[in-house]
Amino acid sequence: MQDCLFCKIIAGTVPSTKVYEDGSVLAIRDINPVTDTHILVMPKIHIEKAGDLTFETAPFAGHCLSAIAEIARNEGIEDFCVVANSGAKAGQTVPHLHFHLLSPFNSQEHFFSP
Ligand code: AMP
Ligand code: ZN
Repeated sequence: MQDCLFCKIIAGTVPSTKVYEDGSVLAIRDINPVTDTHILVMPKIHIEKAGDLTFETAPFAGHCLSAIAEIARNEGIEDFCVVANSGAKAGQTVPHLHFHLLSPFNSQEHFFSP
């Protein structure tokens, strides 16, 4: 999607710090981390938000979650939070589905708002 920041990051036209990449998922360091480890994991196809997922597109989200487990192992993180804000009123500021991988746990992230 032309006007999407994360699509541009996926295409490599906007720089990012890559943590993990495979054929369908990209993970980058959040530019404004709220925890020691704050990684964004996103499908390479443009899905706007978690609330738009269907049974057809859910495997892309599942792939993100598997990548999160792999990244956590690579980063040596045992316990972590996964957050997906769906929609502007839920705090989503970049309208391309992404999961925040957050560690260590901080009770203030429970209702995470960047
Ligand atoms: P959300 O508010 O859930 O949509 O999360 C968007 C996240 O993207 C925020 O935590 C931002 O700090 C992060 N972000 C925005 N622009 C960039 C960027 N260019 N590179 C990395 N992370 C970014
Ligand atoms: Zn996009």
